[in-house]
Amino acid sequence: MIIMKTDATPEQLARVINEIRKCGLKPDVSKGELQSVIGLIGDERRVDFAHFAALPGVKETVMVETPYKLISREYGKFSGGLTERRVITVGDVQIGGDEPVFIAGPCAVETKAQLFRIAEGAKRAGAHILRGGIFKPRSSVYAFQGLGAGGQEVAEEALEWLYRAGQKFEMPIITEVRGEAQVNLVAEYADIIQIGARNMYNQDLLAKVAKKGKPVLLKRHFGAGIEEFLSFAEYIAAEGNKDIILCERGVLPIGKGKSYTRYTLDLAAVPAITKETYLPIIADPSHGTGRRDLVYNMSCAAIAAGASGLMVEVHYNPEEAVVDGQQTVTFDELENIIDSCQRIHELMAPRKNEG
Ligand code: PEP
Ligand code: MN
Repeated sequence: MIIMKTDATPEQLARVINEIRKCGLKPDVSKGELQSVIGLIGDERRVDFAHFAALPGVKETVMVETPYKLISREYGKFSGGLTERRVITVGDVQIGGDEPVFIAGPCAVETKAQLFRIAEGAKRAGAHILRGGIFKPRSSVYAFQGLGAGGQEVAEEALEWLYRAGQKFEMPIITEVRGEAQVNLVAEYADIIQIGARNMYNQDLLAKVAKKGKPVLLKRHFGAGIEEFLSFAEYIAAEGNKDIILCERGVLPIGKGKSYTRYTLDLAAVPAITKETYLPIIADPSHGTGRRDLVYNMSCAAIAAGASGLMVEVHYNPEEAVVDGQQTVTFDELENIIDSCQRIHELMAPRKNEG
């Protein structure tokens, strides 16, 4: 990255940007309170750092040796204002702020009545953001693929319900895009666009979603290491969108025999990632365990681990849910989760272990 002097002129900044482009790289300009910092996106071996360091207005050049430079704490430190955590504001909700944020809703949107009833219950239980899958990634082609599979009209109708439920119960909404073809439509309705675990590696999808300029929730692939996870989040940042919410949702269980959980919720990843990036990270104890009876404990544990919030699947009657009923909690359970998590957060807050 290139750090400009505090008194660098706009012309000097423009020259540096121009020279970066001439080297075939893309500049990421971050204007901090004190100085401007320019991240270099592309192959840095093509850059003569000594040349840049000697340009007028340049204070210094710093090599950041990670594949996730733009979202790194180091970059945040130089660009100012990002030394703690990036706060992502969606409507009245702040993700990464002082309070944990609770995203709740059905795994899949099934009917208008189902969605509105769940939205109301989730809101009453204390949730801040409403979730609901319309384009569902499924392991079997014979399983319910979400209403989105019913064609453009049905997908739009379901998105409209989600939008209206969000309006009625005063919650921003989040829903998943499963493929590039859905991005434009989903971006018209969703406040946050979700990229599911299976798509974490889909860099074209990441770039397309990033360009919409809306906050993006990126779930960790169940086989991805932490560095890989952050490296793919970088694809979103590289498109100029740093409103990224990371989500730990479990990795594949190891060993032979029955694993007793659907995935292994890697909660050590939460504080480890917090050391690396200023982006907020939340946890998904529903997919992370696959078991309703474990969601409460893992929710509490995630907040204790420093998560900025949770994403939880909830239903008025989990048995009835077409998708993921086995890991879906009731309204009472959600209320209990939120209440305990808020208290745990309060206990933890003064001991925050960031940076
Ligand atoms: C989801 O949140 O609806 C989902 C499908 O999760 P994941 O991508 O983590 O499997
Ligand atoms: Mn689900």
